[in-house]
Amino acid sequence: MVPTNQSGSYYVGLETPMQFCPGVGPKRASLFAKLNINTVGDLFWHIPRGYEDFHTICPIRQLRPGQVGTVVGTVSQTECRVPRSASKVYNLLHVVLDDASGSLTAVWFNQPYLAEKIHRGTRLLVHGKVDVYDGYLQMNAPKHQIIEGPLETGILPLYPLTEGLTQAFVRKVVQAAFARYSSFCEENLPLSLLKKKQYPERKLAFRIMHQPAPGEGAPTEAPTPPGDPRQQKRGSGQRAFEGVGLPPTPWELARRRLVFEEFFIHQLVLRAYLGKSNTLTGISHPMPEPSPWGERCLLDVAEPRHWPAWFIWNLPYTLTDDQQTVCREFEANLHAAQPMNRLLQGDVGAGKTVVSFYAMMLAVAGGRQAVMMAPTELLAQQHAENLRRYADGIPRLQIEVLTGSQKTKERREVLERIATGTASIVVGTHALFQDDVQFARLGLVVVDEQHKFGVNQRQRLVAKGETPDLLVATATPIPRTLSLTLFGDMEVSTIRALPPGRPQLITRWTQWSKEEKVWEFIDGLIAQGQQVYVVCPIIEPSENAPHLPSTEEAFEKLSKTFLPHRRVAVLHGRQATDEKSALMQRMKAGAIDVVVATTVIEVGVDLPNATVMVVLGAERFGLAQLHQLRGRVGRGTKKSYCVLITPDRVGVIARQRMRCLEQTRDGFVIAEEDLKLRGPGEHFGTRQSGHLNFRLADPFEDSMLLHEAHQDAHAIYQRDPGLDDPEFITLKKELFRLYGDFIERRPS
Ligand code: ADP
Ligand code: MG
Repeated sequence: MVPTNQSGSYYVGLETPMQFCPGVGPKRASLFAKLNINTVGDLFWHIPRGYEDFHTICPIRQLRPGQVGTVVGTVSQTECRVPRSASKVYNLLHVVLDDASGSLTAVWFNQPYLAEKIHRGTRLLVHGKVDVYDGYLQMNAPKHQIIEGPLETGILPLYPLTEGLTQAFVRKVVQAAFARYSSFCEENLPLSLLKKKQYPERKLAFRIMHQPAPGEGAPTEAPTPPGDPRQQKRGSGQRAFEGVGLPPTPWELARRRLVFEEFFIHQLVLRAYLGKSNTLTGISHPMPEPSPWGERCLLDVAEPRHWPAWFIWNLPYTLTDDQQTVCREFEANLHAAQPMNRLLQGDVGAGKTVVSFYAMMLAVAGGRQAVMMAPTELLAQQHAENLRRYADGIPRLQIEVLTGSQKTKERREVLERIATGTASIVVGTHALFQDDVQFARLGLVVVDEQHKFGVNQRQRLVAKGETPDLLVATATPIPRTLSLTLFGDMEVSTIRALPPGRPQLITRWTQWSKEEKVWEFIDGLIAQGQQVYVVCPIIEPSENAPHLPSTEEAFEKLSKTFLPHRRVAVLHGRQATDEKSALMQRMKAGAIDVVVATTVIEVGVDLPNATVMVVLGAERFGLAQLHQLRGRVGRGTKKSYCVLITPDRVGVIARQRMRCLEQTRDGFVIAEEDLKLRGPGEHFGTRQSGHLNFRLADPFEDSMLLHEAHQDAHAIYQRDPGLDDPEFITLKKELFRLYGDFIERRPS
């Protein structure tokens, strides 16, 4: 049978489904599917996690104690002992193995099934470290292979497996597939790049990954023999470049090539998708007059050009140096004709909001409209309120709010004012994406708390104007490596230092069994007039997760048992907007002591008098999220506390998270740690945005290659943005195969 696909055409080459791969069939294909291997091409990308070196089989006599060796021999004796130790019964298998040169004892502990497979006369390969015991050479628990047919020697790949697939079977399938299909492996990198970097061609690179020859430098599992520093363990960061001056091995070059290919194609996609900016002409907003950073003078609020200075001089505080620097970066960017494409990063509470406001003032001063997209209604309301306060006194500066919960009539009126241009600044939520939201002259898009939105959403907003400037703020600091991976060529502004006078913030992790003490302590703080947030992972108790604390239960517990004499309220996403903002008002006025909430308060909510954050079920939250939550306190002047409560027993990762939070308040440190614990794919809605499904590449480990790929992609894009040169035919094909969906969704 010749395999065909649904449309009746033949499967070709690497697109062949696994089921038609020699020796596989539908049932086993479904096992491969569990490893995300659906086609032969996927199988080629199933790169071994390591190798076993069975290639240098030596005579037993040549084994040296303390070294690692591989020998093949015939079993002359086996003995299975069951010695009784004080408490446990265990099982010890002794096997004596002979070859023409000598004999060796191999010992396995508690592997009774081995005793059934290994008998006198069995031909056996063993590989391991050599010891001496009672004067005899011995290997303890060596790797082994019972040799029935031909001896499998050489450097054998160790593949990631799943239940039902054995190492030997996967090896066989890869070999067979490689024999049949490798000729379909087309080169897709431009030849000039290959040559410059001395990378092997694609087919050769895969061959080296799956069938490395001795001497090609594949890293084997056995400890490295002394004197070969090239075979280093994968450590953290830039592993590929630690080769202490030695030229890279063929294996290393092959690996780099494949990693580079993944990064390179991804960077090209980001270029095509996001990085159009430097080829476009955008809006040149005027510089503020007078400059807010110079001598103060009299201002005329009727003159829009004076607004930015008015705004800055009217603030109840002085901007920090970092904030001022960032504001000036905005000025320069907004004034230039190229559209701004800028990421603003800074830790929670660093004061990003106010500088984003400033960017909007610059845009409106030039007669444009600005829109700010917030992740929650609560936050949209709060931003609008603050902005109105700061911009108080400026005539004709109309600030609008647009959210999903507005009544039809109200919404229509707001839309009208946006469309006619009466509205200068619009602050809103997802409701802003809708098609009926049309701007008269949109000049700036600000996206607050980027990680809540995907790239597509951001782009939809941008498409509402004619090449408006874009500013994206994120509270979770993004290491450079990741920002490059996610955003391609965005410029980055960073606010590193927090505003002065921030109080101490103490974080402690504790368990349910000590809960009562926590509430006692908190009661004491409330007695001093402080306010408390209590965050729960869910709203109602759930049958599926009976131990998960809910706001409902926590409210009951606090208002009846632990803090009956205090004013406790509940806040969560299912409440009406009016109810939520009324509650925030009461909290601000000091009429509430404790707010039991879900993560609606996670981002941006700002109450300086709240000094305590208690997170119930803290093991349920990610590191970055806990850090965000904690950022809600420690904003005023009083010493603040964050208490993380978990079950008495939690997993290793949760424990590491809690410890990390206890130890540091530095968002950059936390972001790095978070990446280590979770991996980059989990970060900031990256999954929704269709990024980072690399097979082999790791933006952290291979950051140098990422930077190279970024530069090379840039150069090629400059030269030939459409990749129209015939040299790029296969590259383009691969690019569409991998990212076609993503690219086609791109707004034009
Ligand atoms: P972010 O958005 O970065 O988390 P915010 O913009 O919400 O932080 O700022 C946190 C708090 O710090 C707000 O109450 C804000 O008014 C205040 N703030 C911002 N900049 C300064 C400053 N330079 N000096 C004093 N307080 C500031
Ligand atoms: Mg903010």
